[in-house]
Amino acid sequence: MNILIVDDSRVSRMFLSDMLREAGYENILQAGSMEELFTMFCAEDDPVSSLVDLVLLDIHLPGQDGIEGCRDLKRIEQFRDVPVIMVSGLEQLENLEKAFAAGAIDYITKPTNMLELKARVSSALKLKGEMDRRKARELELLELTARLEEMNHKLQRLSSRDGLTGLANRHAGGEFLRREWSRGVRERHEFSVIMVDIDCFKPYNDTHGHLQGDECLKQVAAALQEGIHRPADLLVRYGGEEFMVLLPDTGIEGALIVAIAMKERVAALQLPHCSSSVSPLVTVSIGIASAYPRENLMPERLIAAADRALYRAKQEGRNRICVSEEEIDLSGEQPGKFSPAES
Ligand code: GH3
Ligand code: MG
Ligand code: MG
Repeated sequence: MNILIVDDSRVSRMFLSDMLREAGYENILQAGSMEELFTMFCAEDDPVSSLVDLVLLDIHLPGQDGIEGCRDLKRIEQFRDVPVIMVSGLEQLENLEKAFAAGAIDYITKPTNMLELKARVSSALKLKGEMDRRKARELELLELTARLEEMNHKLQRLSSRDGLTGLANRHAGGEFLRREWSRGVRERHEFSVIMVDIDCFKPYNDTHGHLQGDECLKQVAAALQEGIHRPADLLVRYGGEEFMVLLPDTGIEGALIVAIAMKERVAALQLPHCSSSVSPLVTVSIGIASAYPRENLMPERLIAAADRALYRAKQEGRNRICVSEEEIDLSGEQPGKFSPAES
């Protein structure tokens, strides 16, 4: 255990350190003033201050006095949990209240009595030991929590369900898309993607609270699910408040029917939204795109086209459906073309 004595009188320092050595404490450090202490311990590459377990601080010091010094010391990270015992002459006892307010935990008087010194130092060091153990446990707990969170993330990715809504997660959506896309290539079926995004959801969270936001997401997810009737279709939670519907063997007309049904289901929930710029109720914007899967056509291009249609729906005022006009497949078998639809 390392004990630091701060006293301007060399004789007092020697006297205290002799007594401490006699009491069995070997490592005694000394400083003649707060200024000396700060230059000793608070240099950028200071490896020593983390080794101090207790400070015996003279209340009366030249320059910065012990009370101010204690306050400054407590502002330094490495000294925050290091107990400080004030060493005070009898005539300065009335200042002790200020010293306690500044962060000191105890005091001893000058001239110092050996028995008193031993008892106070021993209990302060016990306290320091307790605090060190508590800090170590907290650190362990923090590390454990971080590891658990990381594992949770991994599990979430590995599992196919989104924890909040119970829908397929993005990972599962990707797998489904690759599988069904290949089948579409073989069977020469059209494929449609619908992107759905809740309007003004950030303000919804801000005004209704994050928990209510989660509840809203669950209800919207359930409503969207009700808009799907074919077992081959998959509703995916794509991102925070964004959903993707994958419709194998479905042309743009079919996709539009699904999108309209979904939008109506969400409207029928009648969820109040007091900070939406488009409606007093929760609404969604939807983008749709279709294409004939081909070997050399990445399914991601179809998603990107649906996303651009969604972006247009947002731009045109939200709470509406836009159909992609992009001709994604130029092979001849083209998806039906639609002008942007609104509802
Ligand atoms: P826009 O109409 O343009 O879509 O605006 P927006 O506010 O809906 O979109 P933005 O992308 O700015 O904000 C999305 C918000 O969704 C921000 C985020 O706090 C919220 N969000 C994402 N995931 C969750 C979630 O799991 N729970 C809750 N409560 N909120 C979420
Ligand atoms: Mg949104
Ligand atoms: Mg969004």
